[in-house]
Amino acid sequence: MNGYRGRFAPSPTGPLHAGSLVAALASWLDARAHGGTWLVRIEDVDRPRCVPGADAEILRQLAACGLLPDEEPTWQSQREPLYQVALDRLVDQGLAYPCACSRKDIEVALRAQGRERPRGGELVYPGTCRQGLHGQEPRAWRLRVADGVVPWTDRRLGVRLQDVAQEVGDYVLKRADGLYAYQLAVVVDDGAQGITHVVRGEDLADNTPRQLLLQRALGLPQPAYLHAPLVLGPNGEKLSKQNGAEAVELGDPLRAIVSAAAVLGIDVSGEPSLGNALLAATCAWVARFP
Ligand code: GLU
Repeated sequence: MNGYRGRFAPSPTGPLHAGSLVAALASWLDARAHGGTWLVRIEDVDRPRCVPGADAEILRQLAACGLLPDEEPTWQSQREPLYQVALDRLVDQGLAYPCACSRKDIEVALRAQGRERPRGGELVYPGTCRQGLHGQEPRAWRLRVADGVVPWTDRRLGVRLQDVAQEVGDYVLKRADGLYAYQLAVVVDDGAQGITHVVRGEDLADNTPRQLLLQRALGLPQPAYLHAPLVLGPNGEKLSKQNGAEAVELGDPLRAIVSAAAVLGIDVSGEPSLGNALLAATCAWVARFP
């Protein structure tokens, strides 16, 4: 094993479906192609969205498909003290601050500033609590985002830019319900686990600049990023549980891997066994994403 460390980080909101299997396979192939280490991290910080038993089911499905982690899987719910340490550090450095605003407060403030809410987009935090809480109780904690465009390069998508301050605003690190936000947990864990290469679905690409800013604020190294193609559902949207994605069949893992590889542009349909298909896909991956 060399210094490469990759991971698949599913949220246990349901079993793996064709779309999440593509992300799992892509990160596994990249790790194998680099002779690296591949981890599985169960991202169960958003407890209300987690489905009991989905974590065990995901691990069973991965194993059935021959995607075996090189170290024991980890659960974010067991790592919460680490997220608090990171948040405290950011607060101490003046890089994060408490916020008393409810969603309604934010909508009202944005309307007063004449800033329409982008359709389907995120509420850009208007900065109400940046200078203090105005005597109110803190509800959430946010990162203080500096002005400027954040450029980054994706190994598949190429150069991307995002003006985080304009497009997202100061984003939440710890939510009003006391739960740690995905952005904080993912950055702390990628840092703590020494992840050098992040390979995940393209729907997460827009989160990358927020994660780069947090890595810088916490003094963590920046991994390389590759965002893999998505499987689209019948309505042209990303396949998800909500639009009827079916669980990957444990009984026919070869078929599942052949289909997932095809989404990545790799044809292993002629391979007679799961092991051969995974080996052939690894060789093909090296050529696609050196
Ligand atoms: N837990 C996230 C998800 O399932 C993925 C996080 C990541 O790969 O960075 O959407």
